[in-house]
Amino acid sequence: MHELSLAHGIVEQSIAAAERLRAARVVAVQLRVGRLAGVEAGALVFCYDIASQGTVLEGSRLEIIDVPLVVWCAHCLKEVELPGIQRLRCPTCDTLCGEIRHGRELEIASLEIEESDG
Ligand SMILES: [Zn+2]
Repeated sequence: MHELSLAHGIVEQSIAAAERLRAARVVAVQLRVGRLAGVEAGALVFCYDIASQGTVLEGSRLEIIDVPLVVWCAHCLKEVELPGIQRLRCPTCDTLCGEIRHGRELEIASLEIEESDG
């Protein structure tokens, strides 16, 4: 399953970040997921629970932050949000927008931790 290998990657990155922060326990991991990242959020959370077992992340929540699809319109000279990739045209001027600015993200935004004593 595609989501399982992604979940392992997220767990590895989160463990490394938790160590840098000297976290006693990780409460939650916030993950930014773009519309075009090709990730099914429910499946990813399920796989995260499996991948995090036996690590400092065990029992923590994986919180998905949806990142919309945003393209650059060279005519309007601004970023515009689109409902999907089926029609990459500016809703204002109908210009074809090939430059995707947001929507491919798959990155850890932040970690919610409990600090260790001392
Ligand atoms: Zn436009």
